[in-house]
Amino acid sequence: MSNICYRITPLNPFAHLFQVTLTVARPNPGGQSFSLPNWIPGSYLIRDFSKHLIDLQAETENGTPLSVTPVEKSHWQVAPHQGSIRIQYQVYAWDLSVRGAHFDQTHAFFNGTSVFLAVDGQRDQACSVEIVPSPFSQAENWQVATTLPVENVDADGFGRYRADDYLSLIDYPVEMGRFHLLEFDACGIPHQIAFTGKIEFHCIDKKQLLDDLTRICETELKLFGQPYPIERYLFQVTVTEKDYGGLEHRDSTALICARSDLPYLNDDLNNEKRSDGYIQFLELCSHEYFHTWNVKRIQPEIYQTASLKEPVYTNQLWWFEGITSFYDAQILHRAGILDHDSYLNQLAKEMTRVYRMPGRFKQSVAESSFLTWTKFYQQDENAPNAIVSYYTKGSLIALGLDLTIRAETQNAKSLDDVLLTLWREYGATGKGLQEGEIESICERASGLDLKDFFQRYLFGTEDLPFESLFAQFGIDFTLRPATNAKDTGGKTEQKSFPPQLGANLVESEHQTVKLTHVWNDQSAGLAGLAAGDEIIALNGFKMASVQALETYLARHNIGDDIPCHYFRRDELYETVLHLHPTPCDRVQLTFLEASANAKPEKRLKWIQK
Ligand code: ZN
Repeated sequence: MSNICYRITPLNPFAHLFQVTLTVARPNPGGQSFSLPNWIPGSYLIRDFSKHLIDLQAETENGTPLSVTPVEKSHWQVAPHQGSIRIQYQVYAWDLSVRGAHFDQTHAFFNGTSVFLAVDGQRDQACSVEIVPSPFSQAENWQVATTLPVENVDADGFGRYRADDYLSLIDYPVEMGRFHLLEFDACGIPHQIAFTGKIEFHCIDKKQLLDDLTRICETELKLFGQPYPIERYLFQVTVTEKDYGGLEHRDSTALICARSDLPYLNDDLNNEKRSDGYIQFLELCSHEYFHTWNVKRIQPEIYQTASLKEPVYTNQLWWFEGITSFYDAQILHRAGILDHDSYLNQLAKEMTRVYRMPGRFKQSVAESSFLTWTKFYQQDENAPNAIVSYYTKGSLIALGLDLTIRAETQNAKSLDDVLLTLWREYGATGKGLQEGEIESICERASGLDLKDFFQRYLFGTEDLPFESLFAQFGIDFTLRPATNAKDTGGKTEQKSFPPQLGANLVESEHQTVKLTHVWNDQSAGLAGLAAGDEIIALNGFKMASVQALETYLARHNIGDDIPCHYFRRDELYETVLHLHPTPCDRVQLTFLEASANAKPEKRLKWIQK
């Protein structure tokens, strides 16, 4: 029996309460202290999970109460006691995200960071976890889905599990309920997908989904090679109306996705191609699965010892999120899910997300990584003007590195060589990475001097030279204006580019057009409009929808002046919208025809047709 035993039960679905009992057989006789993480690995925001702990009590083995004193917001001290002690508390679980805990009459989900107190001074010790059914969960025939190592469980998965230490314990999220389970093998490894949430499961195209996921997982397993780091894998998927997100773990991932992003049996009747939403879902699966290697095993050294009390700071997220974002779509191409043209267009859209953001000239990717706690994870309405994303620009650095290495070595080497070196020397051995080490490994694995590259694009704010890089591979990189405010980039048949406001537009509940983000130095911003303003009329005509506003603007020309009435809070203002030229910030990538300027025989192979 472990020195540390957790026992958790889904106690009350209507009050959304888990009951947790923690028994410590050999506590610090001078007074044991306990703490709960303030953040969860993979999500860089102080979340103070302790705010959901209720009615924390301590007692001896015989039930004699012991006093518990809060020392800090997430840290408690129990009175000294020689023998075994028991801590009991409840956890309020009403956060339907991959980062917290959620429990109602339909299911229960938790991350260990939300529910399991760490035993200070004994975090390195193995522990046991008993997941105990409640009368409610029994009546509802709930089952358990988790990759926690099993010690002794019943057919439904309730019973005893174990974990090697505290950081391992919190890396196995647990789902309980009547989820739908699908299973497949990838390279001989058993994989499961558990779907939670209201879903018409009989309508889902399970064959398509299993076929696509098998191809994605096998492509990634074969990329990194044997021995494989996992013995099993679980995709735990929560399906809602419109959410999107994922969190990676060592042999599982918790995902949340929109119902409409799943593949449906009747989709084939109208459209042979996979829907954009489904491709997005597959990219999410590909992304989180890739983290099995890149960040869960190849990882910064400071992550390996993080106390999860204070933020940890690293420049390296450009690699862990950027490179993973680059590969997530490329894996779909390598697996034969996205053809050449679709992948290139997908890449153009990904690139557009960077080129649309003037904030990329205000913040380097390295700084975006370092300051993620206050900037990237706490984005406000000014984010497009002020910050850069280490996901999106990080993926452009990955792309730029891959093209540079391929071009300089005549395709003898690529970014894969860097990745595999990191895997062999760090991921597979468990050795953590120091700051700056990845950059030197990029140089060593490619045989190139990349100091200038990193200085300009990682630590500096320059745009990467994609026009010349792509030209060597027979691909044309062009920046064009937006066709409308929702234009996400890529190919367009449209030849005319109507004036744009330079703002993100949504319809408000008042039948007005609301500005959620306003770009500096574009028409709306220069006319004095700000985020939160609601446009009610242009030149005296009511603008009741984004469509109406865009149709109105399309009838006008750059240089026109348009009177504009708008509300800021409950105050009415009037201004004149001068229509400034629309910036070229949408990326378009096209394969050059053989007869075009570059000679075909000199083109290097990348993802050619
Ligand atoms: Zn990620």
